[in-house]
Amino acid sequence: MEVTFNAYRREPGEAEYRRGVYKLDLPEDATIMDGMLKIRDEEDPNFAFRGSCLRGYCGDCMMSINGKNTFACTAKVANFMNRPEIALRPIRMVPVIKDLVFDWDAFMWNKIKVLNPWIEPQESTDGVRTVPDKVMADLRNAMSCYYCGLCDEGCTVLPVDMKFLGPAALTKAYRLAADPRDKNPGEHLKMAQQAEGIWDCVHCYEASEHCPRNIGPTERIVQLRDMAFEKGITNERVARHHTSFAASVKASGWLDEARLAIESEGLTNISGLMKLLPIAARAAIKGKAPIPYLHHKRPGAKRITEIFEKGDERGK
Ligand code: SF4
Repeated sequence: MEVTFNAYRREPGEAEYRRGVYKLDLPEDATIMDGMLKIRDEEDPNFAFRGSCLRGYCGDCMMSINGKNTFACTAKVANFMNRPEIALRPIRMVPVIKDLVFDWDAFMWNKIKVLNPWIEPQESTDGVRTVPDKVMADLRNAMSCYYCGLCDEGCTVLPVDMKFLGPAALTKAYRLAADPRDKNPGEHLKMAQQAEGIWDCVHCYEASEHCPRNIGPTERIVQLRDMAFEKGITNERVARHHTSFAASVKASGWLDEARLAIESEGLTNISGLMKLLPIAARAAIKGKAPIPYLHHKRPGAKRITEIFEKGDERGK
């Protein structure tokens, strides 16, 4: 089978990448990894890429192949023959070191490390530490994450804030926080709800869409938030944000965004409020600066208020 690979090539320190074009003769059942190994063995020993298990398990060879993010070791060349050349590129947002090798530490591992990614078993009185089957099944699912980073690749927050811990690290946080054997329950939750943690997720569900193991990284972040609320672990700004959001919708049937921004910062937080002024000025210039607290009621607002009141009653 005659095929042409068009690989991303870039030396350390180079600003621009170049296309490495290689014509190969491969068996019909060859994988993309087979082709890359052939290039490195027979054409250019300087071609750099990663690969470890070669069975689609470790996620080390994750890359973009003709725009599809997948693993080179399991991707069959025959499935990518719909274009004259097969384009091999690093995935979105990764810091490239050389060619298709990128900095996993900066992309993911450093974010996992800050979560203290281990449990400290509590003392057992009878020498046995049992976990209910249902809990263990859930933990096993989260533990089956092989840190391929595809959820981080699909995340819509990371492109605007690379400091966000990201769904892969937060899936690890869930696995730790949900383990009843840990002697400090709540510690991992506290770490996960730090700035750039669980509260920065926008719940677009792209992470879950991208996960090849059906772990549901977005759902794990939702579960972490629920656990944090249940245990009363939150930060004041988040609490203010939720209170203001609910109060606004309860009052007028929809969100008063200007009020939300002010109340999330805190009415007595002068420096925080001052930071909002440039944003408010830019919004005003574009005619998009609603006046806080002067929010007209949406049709049906009365009904929405009643729903909130019923909820408040039940909560009591
Ligand atoms: S949660 Fe899924 S997509 Fe994210 S790193 Fe783990 S296996 Fe990969």
